[in-house]
Amino acid sequence: MYEEATVTTLASTPTKRRTTVKTSSGSTLVVPARDLFPANPPILEAADDLTKLSYLNEPSILHDLRLRYASDDVYTRAGPVLIAVNPFKRLHGTLYGPDVMRAHGHGASGASGAAATPPHVYATAAAAYRDMMASKKNQAVVVSGESGAGKTETTKIAMRYLASVGGGDGGGIERRVLQTNPILEAFGNAKTLRNDNSSRFGKLIDIAFDGAGKIKGASVRTYLLEKSRVTHQAEGERGYHVFYQLCAGASAAEREAWGVPEAPGFFSYLSSSSVVAVAGVDDAKAYLETKRALAEVGASEDEISEIFKTVAAVLWLGNVHFDEDATRADGAAAAAVTAAGAPALATAAKLLGVDANLLERALTTRKIHAGGESIVSVLNAASACEGRDALAKAIFAALFDSIVASVNEALGSSGGDRGGGRAAATSVSILDIYGFEYFQKNSFEQLCINYANERLQQQFNKHMFKLEQEEYEREGIDWTKVDFEDNQACVDVIERRPMGILSLLDEQCAFPKATDDTFAQKMATELSSDAKYARDKRNERVFKVSHYAGEVSYDVDGFLDKNRDAIHPDLMSALMASSEDFVCTLAELMTSAKAAETDRAGGLRAARAKGGAGKESVGARFKTQLSALVAKLDACAPHFIRCVKPNSALAPSRFDDALVLNQLRCCGVLDVVRIARQGYPTRYAQRDFAERFGFLLPSAARAPFGDAATDIVPFCHAILQHFDVKDASYQFGKTKLFLRAGQIGMMEDQRARKL
Ligand code: ADP
Ligand code: MG
Repeated sequence: MYEEATVTTLASTPTKRRTTVKTSSGSTLVVPARDLFPANPPILEAADDLTKLSYLNEPSILHDLRLRYASDDVYTRAGPVLIAVNPFKRLHGTLYGPDVMRAHGHGASGASGAAATPPHVYATAAAAYRDMMASKKNQAVVVSGESGAGKTETTKIAMRYLASVGGGDGGGIERRVLQTNPILEAFGNAKTLRNDNSSRFGKLIDIAFDGAGKIKGASVRTYLLEKSRVTHQAEGERGYHVFYQLCAGASAAEREAWGVPEAPGFFSYLSSSSVVAVAGVDDAKAYLETKRALAEVGASEDEISEIFKTVAAVLWLGNVHFDEDATRADGAAAAAVTAAGAPALATAAKLLGVDANLLERALTTRKIHAGGESIVSVLNAASACEGRDALAKAIFAALFDSIVASVNEALGSSGGDRGGGRAAATSVSILDIYGFEYFQKNSFEQLCINYANERLQQQFNKHMFKLEQEEYEREGIDWTKVDFEDNQACVDVIERRPMGILSLLDEQCAFPKATDDTFAQKMATELSSDAKYARDKRNERVFKVSHYAGEVSYDVDGFLDKNRDAIHPDLMSALMASSEDFVCTLAELMTSAKAAETDRAGGLRAARAKGGAGKESVGARFKTQLSALVAKLDACAPHFIRCVKPNSALAPSRFDDALVLNQLRCCGVLDVVRIARQGYPTRYAQRDFAERFGFLLPSAARAPFGDAATDIVPFCHAILQHFDVKDASYQFGKTKLFLRAGQIGMMEDQRARKL
């Protein structure tokens, strides 16, 4: 990567310029000029805002963040964006303690805005709160970064701040708002290779405040829960925390009633990976905490029982194994529940309140209606397993949705922001959503996630650009438009109708005979001329999309099934026939009317009709959700936090330059810096500039201005002239002096020598 060095000799040959440098580690190197970047003067080292740097090159940015990280200054600004580097160690007292929170309290930084306090999540949350109170406009804090970068922790820190400034009426609403975190994490987080507590869904939490700035209520919306994790995990990962919590923490009576063993490995759905425990996590204790949090948001004991009973039912479903039936006279492949699977079937059926024979039939056969008749066909063992897994995933996802719905009810915002009688409330929303993902093998989930990131990046760019332009306009600076990379073409290739990736996928999903391969072929024919799409030359099942953050290869394997996300009507009918009201509610949640109702908050989820036909696809639904999200963010004043993971080992005090640089690129921080660099990134109030550098003028040059230096602009001019700053490199605004990048370094150097 980069190393700090001092130039010893500058040499030029007619064709090349080569420079000899001595590095900080003591070696002497000869390097081509293009590999050298100017370093900032020591006074600008570890600056708390990257745009204060005179030289905004990549090594300087990294150097700044690295130095700060080494002294536990994990927060740094890049202009309006807060960069948060994950400390991977508890810094509670020093970084988040009550004193720190107070320092960021109401009006702490006065009218001058967030810049008056050091960079911190509290400062960003405080700015959002303060701006909301001052302007009565809704605010949004957008937190992004890759898995394990610290988004969810950052979100919780911001929520704690808001709960603290907006709480205190004794109503306890602020406590309930915070209790949403352990609940959502139990059901939607899991250990992955990248993060021991990885959120497998996106979330937007709205905290509504009354006119006096007190919390009135809150609501949560979630995006795209990773369903596949219910039935399968990669080695080294785990299923959802709640599964292990239940096994570790269930009481004797619960074990008896729901058939819960102590060893999670008893369940097939938890045994595709050998990991059972997570370092530092006590699942039994977490079980009680999850229960307590559910109780705190108003769930009754019965309701809590129903929830965990359903979790047990999902796990038991996974132990219903099938074999081909060897006793069939016609020799056809036909699924039969194995001997070991029979008691699992009985238990799952009992927990779901469904007749065991009915469930078995729904899992092993299909009723097909043809020409006014209904024919029963038998499924082979593999199809029966697929149906079983689809059922387990659908039940768990509906359980997750129902928990979100009851949390929203408890927080008094189930009607969402269109609810009546809340006209006076304004809100701060916090978005904690998955960052850009690219693995060895990428599938439909990654496409959706990366699509979301494209849309959010577009919104981010527009906003940053607008802010920059507004500052120039306010100061009356002549600003020839700075270009910024537009990622519209990539958004288009994914969402365009009719010829975008998602709509081609929907079209294929509507053909009964289509397969993942026909989808791959269809894209190859229709999208071949699109610059953002490419087919892999070696593997026809792989296609590539050029995202703003880099090219990603997607394997079409499973795209159609994942997009259809269908549950066979026979299985739905079996659930609907349950004697348990809760199970019927979940079944209804899987169908259209109810789902739309419980998620009225944003009108985000479109109809999910029963069965396959007419049901909106996952991709189409996600697109609708995203558009609503972006529209909502557009209507808010946004605040951005970019989380950065300093190393892949999840270890404290390690800072991997290449890893960090790549994330800064992916999350748009380098774009912010680039926009700044192309304009006039160095800004001083004119008086500050005069005070800082005026004394460097020879006394003869200073004399005409006297001590008071009331003619501030001519005085600044004299300083600029003295340092030989070219006319094109600065502009005077109404109150500020704007300088191009790289001008201030030499002045600071001289100032340091004089002091
Ligand atoms: P993400 O949501 O971006 O995937 P998390 O917020 O779950 O990442 O953070 C991953 C882990 O990093 C946490 O479980 C915690 O151990 C650590 N971490 C993140 N932010 C902080 C912080 N501000 N202070 C201490 N540890 C943190
Ligand atoms: Mg998270």
